[in-house]
Amino acid sequence: MADIIHDYFQPGWRTQQLACVCGWHGASGDMAMELHDEVTDYACPRCENLLLIVSHPSLEQVRHAAGAGNEEARQQLAIVEEALRQHRPPQG
Ligand SMILES: [Zn+2]
Repeated sequence: MADIIHDYFQPGWRTQQLACVCGWHGASGDMAMELHDEVTDYACPRCENLLLIVSHPSLEQVRHAAGAGNEEARQQLAIVEEALRQHRPPQG
């Protein structure tokens, strides 16, 4: 059964060691990552068993985490706001 992370900005999930039924264990950085619209999956690199599912943060969550001083959230917010600026119609 995969661990599900509902709050992307909760600390520690990247470095958390997870054990797979096949005997492999490691952190998310060593797993096979697959990006989806709503979530990112992390699977065992040895047997492809799904170990971790991380929900993508909503803009609201990013704003909240950035406001709380989360450095990654601040960077993401800057990127999002820059993108929003560029998509705005030229007049105005
Ligand atoms: Zn495995």
